[in-house]
Amino acid sequence: MLEHLILGFRYECTANLPINVDCGACGDTRVPSLAYDLTETPMLFHCIPILDSNRSTFVKCGNCGAKLMSTLSCEDLRNCHESDLRHFVSFRDSFIVKCLAIISLLICIFPFLGTAFAAVTWFFARKSPNWVRTAAVIAFVISLFPLCIALVGVALNEFK
Ligand SMILES: [Zn+2]
Repeated sequence: MLEHLILGFRYECTANLPINVDCGACGDTRVPSLAYDLTETPMLFHCIPILDSNRSTFVKCGNCGAKLMSTLSCEDLRNCHESDLRHFVSFRDSFIVKCLAIISLLICIFPFLGTAFAAVTWFFARKSPNWVRTAAVIAFVISLFPLCIALVGVALNEFK
């Protein structure tokens, strides 16, 4: 709580650029999408910049809404030929979603908790074309076995 009062981030979105991309998340090709540069500046007390700004470029897929990473800035994307864009724009799962997927695999044997966690992970990873969604689905399916055993156990206890 205190660290949120002391340290904050200023986000600045600049250079919106309409481009057509092949989306790695939904698999659609030549989707009319929007590229933007996002500048992130760490701020002391939310008003004093303490480190250099970090600029990243993202492309929001116009079809599925997935946030694709670009290794080129909007300015460079503007000068890039459409057929070369796939080399620079790709889908990457966030670090948090990757962690959720690993944790859901580790705790899927626990009834109720494992199923709930895997379901939440599956929801957040639903647009991922990578191993993350597969891991979430596997964790969810595995978690159904201990859940069924626990439910049968509860039911048998009720009818004793
Ligand atoms: Zn898409």
